[in-house]
Amino acid sequence: MMPARVLSNLEIQPYRLRLARPLRTAHGILEHRDGFVVVARDGRFLGRGEAAPMHGTESLAECFDQLQRATLDSLPTTPAARHAVEQALFDLSAQRIGVPLARLLDARVGNEVPVSALLTGETMPELAREAQRAAADGFGTLKLKVGFRDDFARAAVVRDAVGPAVKLRIDANGAWNREQALERLRELAPLDIELCEQPTEDLLGLEAAPVPIAADELTARDPDAALARAQVIVLKPMLLGGLLPALRLGRKALERGLKVIVTSSLDGAIGRAGAAHLAAALHHHELAAGLATGRLLAEDLCADTLAPRAGFLRIPDAPGLGL
Ligand SMILES: [Mg+2]
Repeated sequence: MMPARVLSNLEIQPYRLRLARPLRTAHGILEHRDGFVVVARDGRFLGRGEAAPMHGTESLAECFDQLQRATLDSLPTTPAARHAVEQALFDLSAQRIGVPLARLLDARVGNEVPVSALLTGETMPELAREAQRAAADGFGTLKLKVGFRDDFARAAVVRDAVGPAVKLRIDANGAWNREQALERLRELAPLDIELCEQPTEDLLGLEAAPVPIAADELTARDPDAALARAQVIVLKPMLLGGLLPALRLGRKALERGLKVIVTSSLDGAIGRAGAAHLAAALHHHELAAGLATGRLLAEDLCADTLAPRAGFLRIPDAPGLGL
């Protein structure tokens, strides 16, 4: 780690975390996750926030620049940098008051959040084993990436492996056009698909789809379009510029009768913990949150006291993030 930079009372600590295994993305092979931990100090209290920039937010250099110029009175304007400073300040405030961060966002929070398991197996036997293990571990919702030639076979293997009681959601990351999406979803629907994240890029013209449509990438790009076109809104605080913007958007979605899923975006333990507090604060647990992503990292920012167990994560009673 590079030496921390102190700016008024914000410290910026760059990090690089190794992934458990290289991740194939639309933008190349990802082997590390790079970002910054922001530390805000006040007497004996120490608040932490994470900036994990990625495609859809700012570059790492831009993020650092924004963080360096941040003061307690003016938050950064790019999403990941803003997320980090806001989170550190929330963590600090919650500790001063002596409540879990989630309770700053909503006074009525519960402390259990159901989470989904992302299946990453590449071969059919691997997928089947992984799905069975996740179901046996207590996960009630599994998630499978689609947009490949063998989508139906892979989804069928998972459905057969876990039976009808486990929910199966799919995520196409915008891989299809409208016609392909309608056709694929008609094929997949008999496997009892809970929802499909981002079947196409713009989610236009999918009213006839036999599977509920969730907006993910579209949510950060065009929140109003997401609210208008999807039945489910995926909330990634890192992409939305922090916990508060994500909370506001989530409440708006719920008021309109939509459902929400809070998800981390390959963040370290600090970012994931913030997203967990947000999920608890929205207390909409009809759909499992996408927060069991810590196992995708080979190393982490700190001990993950909020790691899910038996398909649920628990918000600690400790003040602040509880990390
Ligand atoms: Mg997604």
